Amino acid sequence: MFMYFDPMYLIFMIPALILAGIASAKTKGTFKKYSKVAASSHLTGAQAARRMLDLNGLNDVKIHRVRGFLSDHYNPMNRTLNLSPDVHDSQSLSSIGVACHEAGHALQHATGYVPLKFRSAMVPVTQFSSYGAYIFILLGMFMHSIVMAKFGVALFAVGFVFALVTLPVEWDASARAKRQMVTDGIVQPAEAQDAGKVLDAAFLTYVAAAVSSLLTLLYYLMRLGLLGGSDD
Ligand SMILES: [Zn+2]
Repeated sequence: MFMYFDPMYLIFMIPALILAGIASAKTKGTFKKYSKVAASSHLTGAQAARRMLDLNGLNDVKIHRVRGFLSDHYNPMNRTLNLSPDVHDSQSLSSIGVACHEAGHALQHATGYVPLKFRSAMVPVTQFSSYGAYIFILLGMFMHSIVMAKFGVALFAVGFVFALVTLPVEWDASARAKRQMVTDGIVQPAEAQDAGKVLDAAFLTYVAAAVSSLLTLLYYLMRLGLLGGSDD
């Protein structure tokens, strides 16, 4: 039987789909709400991140303006902060929150924050494993090779570990942003709380991804009969 059309898989994934939907709606909603609230400092997202980086001695980390909506990220390869137009140019609490969160990743990188190192090291492995998992599971099914199928499931486990290690990395970047937005004089403490709400909502999307990854893994483990109780 083709696992892809297994209704059991859908049942497994329903909680993940619901959580992903809530997280996405909450992130967009909170971002939108606080994108209408200007910070009293009148700093843009880019200026806020620049100040946070400079006050931490990271004057050499460049800030780029990139296309997209919520496409903001820190690139450890070339040590650049890549901010979407909304975040880069606006003086809103949402923009400042996201920009300082990305600056938080640059700080993690500069201080050798271990979960970030671990996560970066896993990136190439995870890129292979996300495709490899399906390929080996399918091969295992067609060739009736339980070893190959198990290898495929092991690759799913790699994806889950990656999603799991992403959680402390994201939480910590937000924690740094929340602290430093205030200590670096970027926003007032009350404003930092609202900007923090945007970051908390965004964190939910990483939780949803981890839950989805875990449920997929559990589903395939169940199919392999590793959890006992095979339904066929
Ligand atoms: Zn992040």
